[in-house]
Amino acid sequence: MDLKSKIRDIPDFPQPGIIFKDITPLFQDAEAFKYAIDSLADKYRNAKIDVIVGIEARGFMVGAPLAYLLGVGFVPMRKPGKLPADVISASYDLEYGSNTLELHRDAIKPGQRVLLVDDLLATGGTMAAAVKLVEQLGGEVAGISFLIELSFLKGRTALASYDVFSLMSF
Ligand code: AMP
Repeated sequence: MDLKSKIRDIPDFPQPGIIFKDITPLFQDAEAFKYAIDSLADKYRNAKIDVIVGIEARGFMVGAPLAYLLGVGFVPMRKPGKLPADVISASYDLEYGSNTLELHRDAIKPGQRVLLVDDLLATGGTMAAAVKLVEQLGGEVAGISFLIELSFLKGRTALASYDVFSLMSF
């Protein structure tokens, strides 16, 4: 299936100069949605994953159905102030300004094999911060997965020591 045709380019969103990769047409299309999540599940079915961590918010759309298919738990990594219990947090720089991610302190048990999931890999800053939080809790990063990779931004170099997979590359 041509999944790339289900990704819509939105120029100058959310700010001038950015071409936003809109995944909503893919999720709107029942066949494409199923094909994308099934493809990821096929890749990780024998990877002995214990838990999937999805990054707010589009990482939830990928990570939760994938966790369900694999029969493992799902943990949300969220923007500041959203998680109700005790959290750990990591801040990282963006092109303009900075961002923070939070994870419940009891969400990952030491030694658990964690698959981290987000919709898109750009510079890799978001995922590098996410990895830091998982490892801080003693989780073992068994894999990192995206629907989309913007390969010209070379985000993989920020995640060089990990097993990184993307379904589509632009
Ligand atoms: P980065 O930290 O640079 O790898 O950026 C990745 C995060 O920002 C992901 O959570 C993406 O959802 C979002 N993102 C960055 N660039 C884009 C883009 N061109 N289109 C859609 N989402 C993007």
